[in-house]
Amino acid sequence: MIPLPLVTPDDKRPANAGFAQVMLNNLTGQRSLHATRFFDAGDIICTFGAGSVQTEASYLTVQTDIDRHITLQPEFLQYINHSCGPNVFFNTTSFELEALKAIQPGDELMFFYPSTEWNMAQPFECYCGSSQCLQQIRGAAHLTDDELRPYKLTDFIRHQLQKRKQ
Ligand SMILES: [Zn+2]
Repeated sequence: MIPLPLVTPDDKRPANAGFAQVMLNNLTGQRSLHATRFFDAGDIICTFGAGSVQTEASYLTVQTDIDRHITLQPEFLQYINHSCGPNVFFNTTSFELEALKAIQPGDELMFFYPSTEWNMAQPFECYCGSSQCLQQIRGAAHLTDDELRPYKLTDFIRHQLQKRKQ
């Protein structure tokens, strides 16, 4: 028997919009989104919108204001996982997904959850393996200004940090 590679394209979720592919980890069942083309730092990968708008956060939503959480459209963007060393950024002012660094075909797209999330509904222990891993991911409200300094943050999060200082 030929063993299945650990991470394979998700058959039920084919390549999307010509720039990304949902992959399935056959061991954990976890999905991830991988680039299928090259992006340079600063490139706009795609625009996104709100599938639905909710007042409470869930594991599927991205925060755009204190009581506004959107599900992502296109939906496959929900498979962009967290990393403390992100390569993409959800700009919730322009509604553009931005490349933070050069991304090669095959690279997993990852964003820093506290760059959009102030106080997360479902905090988790991070094992991203990044040298700058913060370990506990609970939202920007739980991080110091120093911890957040290396990251690009949404206008909403920056506004919250300004308010926190006062
Ligand atoms: Zn981490």
